[in-house]
Amino acid sequence: MPDTLITTPSSAFLGKLRTIVGDKGMVEDAQARAFHETDWRGFTMGRAAAVVKPASVEEVSAVVALCSEHGVKIVPQGGVTGLVGAGVPVRDGDEIVLSLARLNRILDVNPTAYTMTVEAGVVLQTIQETAAAHDRYFPISLGAQGSCMIGGNLSTNAGGATVLHYGNTRAMVLGLEVVLPDGRVWDGLRALKKDNTGYDLKDLFVGAEGTLGVITKAVLKIFPRPKDVATAWLAVPAPKAALELLAGARIAADDNVTSCELVHELGLEGIIKHIPGTQRPLQGRHTWQILMEWSSTRPIPEDGESGMRARMEAYLAGCMEKGLVDDAVIAQNEAQARAFWHIRESHAEAGRHSDPACSFDISVAVEKIPAFIEACNAAAETAVPGIRPRPMGHMGDGNLHYNFSAPVGVKARAEFAPTVKVLDRIVHDMVARFDGSISAEHGIGSIKLLELEHYRSQTELDVMRAIKKALDPKGTMNPGKVIRVDPSEAVREGTL
Ligand code: FAD
Repeated sequence: MPDTLITTPSSAFLGKLRTIVGDKGMVEDAQARAFHETDWRGFTMGRAAAVVKPASVEEVSAVVALCSEHGVKIVPQGGVTGLVGAGVPVRDGDEIVLSLARLNRILDVNPTAYTMTVEAGVVLQTIQETAAAHDRYFPISLGAQGSCMIGGNLSTNAGGATVLHYGNTRAMVLGLEVVLPDGRVWDGLRALKKDNTGYDLKDLFVGAEGTLGVITKAVLKIFPRPKDVATAWLAVPAPKAALELLAGARIAADDNVTSCELVHELGLEGIIKHIPGTQRPLQGRHTWQILMEWSSTRPIPEDGESGMRARMEAYLAGCMEKGLVDDAVIAQNEAQARAFWHIRESHAEAGRHSDPACSFDISVAVEKIPAFIEACNAAAETAVPGIRPRPMGHMGDGNLHYNFSAPVGVKARAEFAPTVKVLDRIVHDMVARFDGSISAEHGIGSIKLLELEHYRSQTELDVMRAIKKALDPKGTMNPGKVIRVDPSEAVREGTL
């Protein structure tokens, strides 16, 4: 251990890094470096001292041990699709970005045990496709699935469109391998459903956003592949009707409602305008729309009558009679179902091209969603005349992406920024009033660190700080994200 800890990596330190990862593991091209320093929305908050891509757990361990020895800070990184400024540097030149992209092997698929063992850098879509090739299914599904990596999904405890039925990423994990902040490797790569030997360590690392260690491998659960799937796009008169529709659908589908997504007309308008090839699924404009999917693992029955599509059609006809549904279309084939999903998953991309907007990733108990929307819209519209709320998202599990478009005429992000601060407080205070969460699935990162401190109790903050201090006493692992051990530490917040 050197006598003095350094915080800004010296050239000698960078030389040692190169010795560990080799030339191939050092990212030096300026454009390539910029990718690793910039979050998905295009914001850059800090610059990395170096970007390294180790190729094995041994290399990850050696890099982390070296950083620990020299007090150099590390930002673990997957596909850089996170939305809360967690996977990019927030300081200037004293952090190392450690990308897991080269740890990208599928190590084992066991269709009999329904497990898959993977390295942290495997892209989510590759996991889905590998499961499908074995007639199995990996349910985590989200708009960024072609780029995000399983290590990132685990570290953010990603949710997505199927949480309603299958649970979030935490529910998909049987075991983990993790490089601890001092470089030691914790081998918890067990494929056990039952394991009550003391504290459940793996659950500490899931959702920790890289602040407690680097996930290098995981044993995942896989599931029987759905074979009979019905996908519908619906117009509903109000969120309250959607809630009733969902409650009845669970019974009508033998509890096989696998997705229930809320779409707002204003969001849909933006998608049709900005995303080439998208079309309205229904005639005319409807403020509230729902994308609903039912899935069965049984093959489609030959008579068709008892299949998911027929059952959904009968159920929706009844809902129309009761006034719960204004209009509906059920996908007639896989291509049409994919087109519906493409619309749903294009919200974030369309948001990058639209007028200034902001987004809050919140959750409340499912049954409170209609009242929450009513109260939150009213409070925002009173405080900010002309503001255009367009809440949407994973309504079936209580998670809304509470989006707002700036009032008509506001064209510059900078002009909208002070309003975002006002909305921040309005939405999060309302979440607190409804006993909800200010981060449902995206995490805290740097953007919501101060909000976490504002809304969580002193007891919860004390426990989180104690865990962080115990596992990462030198504070080298993704500092400035999730929780500050020292509340006087400066914060770079970024933007929503
Ligand atoms: P990164 O962005 O690279 O990192 C995210 C966090 O994980 C950082 O804190 C990073 O330090 C840490 N990390 C990454 N890899 C490791 C590792 N191996 N060990 C330790 N820490 C690590 N999220 C949802 O939950 N649901 C959605 O429906 C959803 N939809 C999205 C749609 C779009 C279009 C986009 C752009 C994003 C969406 N997201 C969604 C957010 C994002 O895709 C997820 O948070 C994803 O899980 C991040 O994975 P990543 O590999 O890109 O991680």
